[in-house]
Amino acid sequence: MTFEDFLIPKTLDEAREALETLGDRGYALAGGTAFQYVADRPGATAVDITRLGLRGIDRTADGFRIGATTTLTDLVRYRAEGWVLDRVATRIPTHQVRNISTVGGNISRLFPWSDLPLALLVLEGRVVVSSDEERTYEALEFFTAQPLNRFGPGTLVTAVIVPAVAPPLGFGFKKESTTNAAFSLMTAAAAITLAGDRLDKVRLAANAALPVPMRLTEAEAALEGRPADPALFEAAIERGMAGLEWHGREGMSDEFARHLAAVILRDVLEEALRAAKGGAE
Ligand SMILES: Cc1cc2nc3c(=O)[nH]c(=O)nc-3n(C[C@H](O)[C@H](O)[C@H](O)COP(=O)(O)OP(=O)(O)OC[C@H]3O[C@@H](n4cnc5c(N)ncnc54)[C@H](O)[C@@H]3O)c2cc1C
Repeated sequence: MTFEDFLIPKTLDEAREALETLGDRGYALAGGTAFQYVADRPGATAVDITRLGLRGIDRTADGFRIGATTTLTDLVRYRAEGWVLDRVATRIPTHQVRNISTVGGNISRLFPWSDLPLALLVLEGRVVVSSDEERTYEALEFFTAQPLNRFGPGTLVTAVIVPAVAPPLGFGFKKESTTNAAFSLMTAAAAITLAGDRLDKVRLAANAALPVPMRLTEAEAALEGRPADPALFEAAIERGMAGLEWHGREGMSDEFARHLAAVILRDVLEEALRAAKGGAE
């Protein structure tokens, strides 16, 4: 997209008002790493949203509230008990992209390579959206459709909320690419909550080999309530993958993508289970 004008509002209200007035011509610009993927529009005007006071990470009673213009590098550098988003953000290439890409930008326009949505889906995070009023969406609802297509002009993501992760909750994340800076072939995330030696809650999501980030609810249902035994994972994954179209990328065949997906999904479930047990095998 080529911009014909550029506005730098100083408050959320100013930014929302400018975007509402501009309508289809307005483009909320955060890190600006995705506008090359968006078609030109006559009179396109960028509205910089990086000076609205939406950057930063706050520890809350049970987790973290992350402002929408917090950068991916901020996520990598942040340290706190129960913080896992550094493990996701550090796998998004490259340093330059991480330095300017924002949390809000990463989740508002979904691509096959979008990584943060996977973490939000399995951790059952929430997304705070500001339009005429403020509304908080569960991640599952927020990611059921391309978020930008659902919200009208002037609607902005202002924050995301994720829980702190500690046993009996464990998190797993894995991404497979041909080189560090290449687009992902297959990305997956899992979260497991244990109740004694049973799988109380299982959340599993995939992207890259799928067109958009998606939860594999059939696999989750096949595991919940069952013994915490990795031997059960393979059959549950098969069930969860059935009926979905797995796409090969970077020259790989669809058949390869499907096989890779099964392997990576198992890896993240095993990682989440180890973490849920406190690192014990
Ligand atoms: C070479 C390259 C490789 C990449 N690889 C990966 C990868 O492997 N994994 C990954 O997850 N990401 C990857 N990214 C980054 C990702 O694709 C997005 O470009 C990035 O996360 C968007 O963040 P941004 O702050 O730059 O958003 P912008 O480009 O500024 O905005 C993206 C879209 O979201 C809208 N938007 C931004 N902020 C908000 C908000 N607060 N509320 C509502 N709408 C908003 C914008 O209007 C725009 O439509 C890569 C980027 C590049 C350039």
